[in-house]
Amino acid sequence: MRAQQQEAWCACWSCQHPIQKDSMVLRCPVCNALQPYYDDDPFTVLAVAPSYTLDFKQVDESYIRLQAEMHPDRFPLASAKEKRIAAANTATLNACYGTLRHPLKRAVALMAHAGQRASTSNEQTTIDDPDLLMDMMTLREQLADSDVAEAKRCYLEHLAACEGAIDGAHRQQDWDAMDRHVTRLRYLLRLGEDVVGG
Ligand SMILES: [Zn+2]
Repeated sequence: MRAQQQEAWCACWSCQHPIQKDSMVLRCPVCNALQPYYDDDPFTVLAVAPSYTLDFKQVDESYIRLQAEMHPDRFPLASAKEKRIAAANTATLNACYGTLRHPLKRAVALMAHAGQRASTSNEQTTIDDPDLLMDMMTLREQLADSDVAEAKRCYLEHLAACEGAIDGAHRQQDWDAMDRHVTRLRYLLRLGEDVVGG
């Protein structure tokens, strides 16, 4: 259980009225002051259920709605403090949206949401798992030997299988397996940039 679920209420910074912690309710019901995000977890901020497969239509709708909520045009008479909160919230919102839209960042965030640390979140550049290394070398050779269309098709097939494995491991909460698949995804994405141009 994440901390914000245990502590479901906070006080409005302006009038101290209790406000339920809900990323879609960003204004105090009493004084209407814009509230800062209490969490930078992308699933919480964009109010989507933590899953590797997302309904991106829903993610986009949340994003557009929240972005509009924080837009300076919405409150031209706001105090300097409220404008600072709006700017900080917008930065958090944009970062969270970028994370959910990115296959690798989304997977790492999904592990973090469950209190798990992905080993690939460090900026390691070499593969130290011999099986993964062999796997990637074989795939790289296979792609290099194929024509462009075939290489792309084959690469996307591997990518889809890896993302499917991440999703499956997450649904079973098998964190060791998920971590391995997430590391594999990182190298697959890099391979994609090298071999089929992303
Ligand atoms: Zn208030």
